[in-house]
Amino acid sequence: MAAENVLDYNTALEVLKSEEKDGLDVYSLLDSKVRGGLTYNDFLVLPGYIGFPASEVTLDSKVTKKITLKLPLLSSPMDTVTETDMAIHMALLGGLGIIHHNCTADEQAEMVRKVKRYENGFILDPVVFSPQHTVGDVRNIKNKQGFSGIPITENGTMQSKLLGIVTTRDIQFHKDDSTPVSEIMTKDVVTAPEGISLEEGNQILRDCKKGKLPVVDANGNLTALLSRTDLMKNHHYPLASKLPHSKQLLCGAAIGTRPDDRVRLKKLVDAGLDVVILDSSQGNSIYQIEMIKWIKQEFPDLQVIGGNVVTREQAASLIAAGADGLRIGMGSGSACITQEVMAVGRPQAAAVFSVSQFAAKFGVPCIADGGVQNVGHIVKGLALGASTVMMGGLLAGTSESPGEFFVSREGQLVKAYRGMGSIDAMESQKTSDNAATGRYFSEGDRLLVAQGVSGQVTSNGSVTKFIPYLQAGLQHSLQDMGIKSLDALREGVRNSTVRFELRTVSAQAEGNVHGLHEFTKKLFS
Ligand code: IMP
Repeated sequence: MAAENVLDYNTALEVLKSEEKDGLDVYSLLDSKVRGGLTYNDFLVLPGYIGFPASEVTLDSKVTKKITLKLPLLSSPMDTVTETDMAIHMALLGGLGIIHHNCTADEQAEMVRKVKRYENGFILDPVVFSPQHTVGDVRNIKNKQGFSGIPITENGTMQSKLLGIVTTRDIQFHKDDSTPVSEIMTKDVVTAPEGISLEEGNQILRDCKKGKLPVVDANGNLTALLSRTDLMKNHHYPLASKLPHSKQLLCGAAIGTRPDDRVRLKKLVDAGLDVVILDSSQGNSIYQIEMIKWIKQEFPDLQVIGGNVVTREQAASLIAAGADGLRIGMGSGSACITQEVMAVGRPQAAAVFSVSQFAAKFGVPCIADGGVQNVGHIVKGLALGASTVMMGGLLAGTSESPGEFFVSREGQLVKAYRGMGSIDAMESQKTSDNAATGRYFSEGDRLLVAQGVSGQVTSNGSVTKFIPYLQAGLQHSLQDMGIKSLDALREGVRNSTVRFELRTVSAQAEGNVHGLHEFTKKLFS
C-alpha cells in the first residue's frame, strides 16, 4: 500500500465513528427467518473496552417481578438436582434452588421448611419444649433436625415464660431417655431483651460464647432465638438470597397444575415458600392459566413463575394470566429427547431471545432453562435477555445434589442424573404425586412415552466452589465486553452497542481445544 494512502493513526477513533459497526446487532443475529433457530454455540459476543477490574462487575438480576438475586443462577426442580441441601446452598451463594415435586406434598413441604429454618437472623419459630418433654424427645429432634439448643418454656411454645435451655452437652452422657428435661436443663440462661438489633444480638453471642441466645420480652416470655451457627454462616455468605425483613433464605419449589397441586401448594406456603414454579414442558395450557389466576387470588404475596415456553404466543397467555416470571426452554435440556420424539421445541438461543424480548415489555423476568454446559452459555442466555439461568445437569454432579457419587465403568467419579420425562423418573412414584408424569402427560395416559433419558454426570465438586467459579467466570466475561452489570449488558444488546458474530462449524472447532495429543480440562482451582 502506498504510504500516502495510510491514514494518520491519531485519527483511528475518529475514522471508526464514520464506519459501520463491527459484527452484528442481536436483531440481525437472531432473525430466525433468515438464519433458522440458533443455539448458544452458534454465535459469540464481540469484546468491548476494559476500563475496570472484573471484581467490579455486579450480577444482580430479577428472578420474578418482586424478587432480585445477587447471582442470576437457579437449580432445576429435578429429583437428581434440587432437594434441601442444594436449595440451601444455592440461596446461601446468592442464587435460588427450586425443590422438585417428585415426592409427596408433605415431603416437599418439609424440604421447604428446612431451607427456611436454615439460616435466620432472629429465629421466630424455633423448636421449643415444655419441662415435661424428655431427654429422649431432645435426642429425637437432634437426630432428625440437628438442633443443638432447645429453649424450654412453661407451655412448650413461643410467647411463654422461658425456664431454661437444653443443649447437646446436657444430654450427652445422660443414659435415661425418660428423664424430664426440667431435671437436666440449664436454668442460668443468658438472654437478650426484645427489641435489640441483629448486630447487638450477635455481639452478645460473641461475648458470651454460647450457642443460642433466647430473646425475651419484659415478662420473660420467649419471643425469638439467635443462633451462633447462623452468625458464622452470615459471615461466610455475603450474597445470600434473603428477604430483607425476615433474614430467612429464599426458597422456591415446583408444582403441577392438577387439583391435588392446590392442596400441595397450601402446604408449601405454610412452610414458608417464596416462589412457585408451575412445572410443565408446555406451559401454554388452560390448566396453567387457571392455576396462575387461582394462585394470584389465593396467595397474592407468592411469586408465580409460569412455563415452560419458547414462543411469544405462549408467553403472552401466561403473562396475561398474571405470571410474575417465565421459564424458557423446550427440548434443550441435556437429558432431554423432546425435540426428537415430539418434533416440538425450539433451539434455546432463539427461544430465549424471542420470549424475553417480548416479556420485557411487560416487566416480566425470564429464566433461560436448560442447555447450559459452561459459563459461556450462561452469559449468552443473559445477553439474549434472560434475567436468570437455570441448570440441571451441571449441578447434578455436585456434592449438594441428591444421591451419592460412585465410580463409573471408566473409573470416573459420577452421580446419577435423569430427565424428569425419562421412564425411570415417571415410574419412580406411581401416584398422583408423580411430578414427571404431571410435567409431561395428562392424567390417565396409559402408555408413557419418554421425553428424557437417565444417565450419569461427572463430578463438579461442591457448589460452594462451583457456583463461585461460575460467578467469577461471568464477571470476567462481562469485563471482556466492557460491561459492568447485567442491566447494562441487556441495555447494550437492546441498543445494539453489544455486537455479535455468527460461528461457523469450523469456527466452533477453532474455538475449542484442538491439535493437542492429550490434555486435561481443569476448570478452576
Ligand atoms: P440441563 O441443565 O441442560 O440439564 O437442563 C435442565 C432442564 O431440562 C430442566 O430444568 C427442565 O426444563 C428440562 N428437563 C428436565 N427433564 C427433562 C426431560 O426428561 N425431558 C425434557 N426436558 C427435561
